[in-house]
Amino acid sequence: MDTKSFVNQLNQITETLLAMTPAQREVVHQSIQASQAEITVNELFQPMFEKLSQCPHCHSSHFKKWGKAFETQRYYCKNCHKTFNNRTKTPLANLHKCHLWEEYARCMELKLTLREAASICNINLKTAFLWRHRFLMAQSGKYPDKLSGIIEVDEFFLAYSEKGSKKLTEERVARKRGGDIDKRTKDGQVAILLSTDRSNHMIDGVLSADTASEIQSHLQPYINDNSVLCSDGAWAYVNIAKLTNCDHKRLISGRNRVIDKIYHIQTVNGAIAHFKGWVDGKMRGVATKYLLHYLAWFRESHSNLTSQQILQSAYG
Ligand SMILES: [Zn+2]
Repeated sequence: MDTKSFVNQLNQITETLLAMTPAQREVVHQSIQASQAEITVNELFQPMFEKLSQCPHCHSSHFKKWGKAFETQRYYCKNCHKTFNNRTKTPLANLHKCHLWEEYARCMELKLTLREAASICNINLKTAFLWRHRFLMAQSGKYPDKLSGIIEVDEFFLAYSEKGSKKLTEERVARKRGGDIDKRTKDGQVAILLSTDRSNHMIDGVLSADTASEIQSHLQPYINDNSVLCSDGAWAYVNIAKLTNCDHKRLISGRNRVIDKIYHIQTVNGAIAHFKGWVDGKMRGVATKYLLHYLAWFRESHSNLTSQQILQSAYG
């Protein structure tokens, strides 16, 4: 379609959309989403691969097409003589049944359990588990945006868990007890930092200890200077606000819950309650070593990523 006829048609579409009720527009929105689902995994990843246009082994740009394997184009590098495809050396390398990934990403969009996702995609629990963590690997601890404007921050605790370390089941929750407790935990609890701004950006961190320096290293790099930091007033936050030239609103529990009607930590506390409810309720507890993955998944859902965006984020 050329630009001129596209613009003409777009004007017509816009006019039609404006004449619709919100419910009718939602139906249109859903059919657009359904049509996007037709894109294959290769169509999704090929542009990302071509943008880099280099051998994943040696980064040379001298490579040629080298036949296809299961609909996926293979390449041969003239420099290092290795072959690869558009997923080699990404977190999605060597995973099979890629025709089911879109469906699986949709299960992740809906934050379903392993058992639910496995049953919908007709895969076994082990595969569902592998895909879940490969899909989240690239996103854990990686934040596309810094926080700015009104920033809310708080810490919370989850019980240390070794769930699934011996046998993979959703139900089993194993906890280290007594003298066996991991050094970084306090009374078998793991400290987690969560911070959001009012534009839906979110950062998180699993703290190795609930100390000012740990809070600082997980928060300060992601704060834009001259923002407003809202916290419970802990000393760590006073220091971070000073170092980033932020105005600091101290919401000391029991006293100032809201300052000037807009400064509070209720958004971040709502998100924390939502996260805890999801991992402890629906997910029946998660292994501490995978916490960063679940936080990444939670962030994706917080920013309403579609299944295709989940896949693209998983690519790296
Ligand atoms: Zn190479």
